[in-house]
Amino acid sequence: MALIVHKYGGTSMGSTERIANVARRVAKWARAGHQMVVVPSAMSGETNRLLGLAKELTPAKPGADYLRELDMLAATGEQASSALLAIALQAEGMPAVSYAGWQVPIRTSSAYTKARIDSIDDQRVRGDLNAGKVVIITGFQGVDEDSNITTLGRGGSDTSAVAVAAALKADECLIYTDVDGVYTTDPRVVPEARRLQTVSFEEMLEMASLGSKVLQIRSVEFAGKYKVPMRVLSSFTPWDIDINEEAKSGTLITFEEDEQMEQAVVSGIAFNRDEAKISVLGVPDKPGIAFHILGAVADANIEVDVIIQNVSKDGKTDFSFTVHRNDYARTIDLLKDKVLPALGAADVLGDAKICKVSIVGIGMRSHVGVASKMFRVLSEEGINIQMISTSEIKTSVVIDEKYMELAVRALHRAFDLDQVVSV
Ligand code: ADP
Ligand code: ASP
Ligand code: MG
Repeated sequence: MALIVHKYGGTSMGSTERIANVARRVAKWARAGHQMVVVPSAMSGETNRLLGLAKELTPAKPGADYLRELDMLAATGEQASSALLAIALQAEGMPAVSYAGWQVPIRTSSAYTKARIDSIDDQRVRGDLNAGKVVIITGFQGVDEDSNITTLGRGGSDTSAVAVAAALKADECLIYTDVDGVYTTDPRVVPEARRLQTVSFEEMLEMASLGSKVLQIRSVEFAGKYKVPMRVLSSFTPWDIDINEEAKSGTLITFEEDEQMEQAVVSGIAFNRDEAKISVLGVPDKPGIAFHILGAVADANIEVDVIIQNVSKDGKTDFSFTVHRNDYARTIDLLKDKVLPALGAADVLGDAKICKVSIVGIGMRSHVGVASKMFRVLSEEGINIQMISTSEIKTSVVIDEKYMELAVRALHRAFDLDQVVSV
């Protein structure tokens, strides 16, 4: 008997019919003798619907208490889907109980809309499991130390599931979604994308942080920190497929490099349309400039991603960086109001129509020329590279958004990703 955590995404929970299917699948696992904890997302579209309602009522500059209410609101989506799943399981003759985050409780920081999980109390859940019940715990949400409801950021149910699995020392955390595993790139953009049988934890971490939305990055961080065995698989296989076959399907996130079956230099391509580029032109080329610009940005709680500083001409240089698109206008205003006058910089330019395309692979550590191949492929497609950033196992470029699909497809082909053999 094992303790297994299942997580079902919004599409998998998208209708009562699908919820009934999830219930049948979970009941099958429970009847096979496993202790089952299930973490559902809200039904597809529900979180967007709720946030849309809030937007209709929100003034241009919302007050300080606004984010608290957004979390209070958005968390209802998961509460509804969890209760529906418990009802569906009970209808299957399977004892089940659902809990909202605060009932477990899942304790988080107070950073509304992007709270971090601090601890999970496993007592109540263990009691129910020992009494033979399936336990359903809402994804995406928790409670802060003042009993305020918090949420974990979009896609946060993945993180809830892995954190619950870590707290319960579960044998495995299975992330059921609308694709049958982690692919070499988003299969909705590149139809030739191939499912990976295994992907290393480090590669998954890079892919998630570089834009592959199949897993929320923090869920991968949790899996790495607590060594939670984790698999991504489809919720659209027939619910009554053989459980042993199901248990081996999808993509396993591995922690040992030699568990990795594929030997490709590049394992995947990630892309991200969520960033915007900002350039501060004509800043004096002297110590303290980067700190002056980025310090002001950091003080405003704005995260910076790719950064470049050009060589100086006549003692002046240009300084560019990217921020999340949601922070774009605020960053420009901040630079114009506070930083430019003090620096004597000439101007601030911005471009929100950019994207970041990244190649990822642990094989890049031991191979030279991978980045230059990437640049050659892009140049052959006539795509101008605006910024570059590298680490041991990834190379990212910032390019014009309109070339995103072209770039991803060309790179996918050039690095033979459509040829990866699934073993
Ligand atoms: P869920 O609602 O189950 O959490 P998400 O929409 O958050 O599902 O994540 C699944 C989606 O992630 C897929 O439908 C796919 O379009 C997208 N995706 C992006 N990159 C990848 C990738 N490398 N492999 C698989 N899916 C990916
Ligand atoms: N329902 C939340 C969202 O749409 C959390 C999740 O689906 O993981 O972001
Ligand atoms: Mg998701």
